[in-house]
Amino acid sequence: MREVALAWGAATDTGQRAENQDSFLARPPVFAVADGMGGHAAGRQASVVAVERLARTADAVTDGTSLTVEGLRQEIRGADDDIRRAASTLGDARGMGTTVAGVALVEQPEHGACWAVFHVGDSRVYLLGEEGLVQLSTDHSVVQELVDMGMISAAAAAVHPQRHLVTRALGVGPQAEADVLLLPVEPGRRFLVCSDGLTGELEDGEIARLLADAEDPQAAAGTLVRTAVDRGASDNVTAVVVEVRELPSAE
Ligand code: MG
Repeated sequence: MREVALAWGAATDTGQRAENQDSFLARPPVFAVADGMGGHAAGRQASVVAVERLARTADAVTDGTSLTVEGLRQEIRGADDDIRRAASTLGDARGMGTTVAGVALVEQPEHGACWAVFHVGDSRVYLLGEEGLVQLSTDHSVVQELVDMGMISAAAAAVHPQRHLVTRALGVGPQAEADVLLLPVEPGRRFLVCSDGLTGELEDGEIARLLADAEDPQAAAGTLVRTAVDRGASDNVTAVVVEVRELPSAE
């Protein structure tokens, strides 16, 4: 098997909002973005709680615990529980919830290491590979459902007044399951995990160009977020970029 190494970077900005309710994690083997919702401090706290849960998951792997897809699913369910518990301690936790999206290196008994791409809500995961930019996650949102039913176009969805309404979130509504996709670990690929504040400002073609042109993942994350902010960013904007690099062979 080829030896690979990971490189990563992250950036976030409050945009025009009063508070940044997005949180992110870039701690191998877990890379994630959470976009909180709910009034007062609730939205911010929900995304922090979700990311803290995944940070502990990453730390456990560093300490020698192997992470499987089922284990990852359980951690996401655990984050859902953690948010509900945190909500019960807040005076005003109405609508307290968060999206979560990301990639994690997991060990599968038959296949060894692979990427688990996961999401709940409308934060997204993209992959930039030889075939260009591919959106790996499908939004759990009202407008995505309308697009799937053929009732509106993707272009109409992008400006729809209800485009921010999610149909699945952690901590609010019925307990949410993450959608998970498994991919092989291949060098030369860049993943982008981002909140809807980024995709609300930049079109996919532009994201592809900025992601491909950046020298390294930190430059990519910084440029993507800065470009969205320069456009006026009506929402919080967060990007985490992860790249798989091939290590030079020992010979
Ligand atoms: Mg948002």
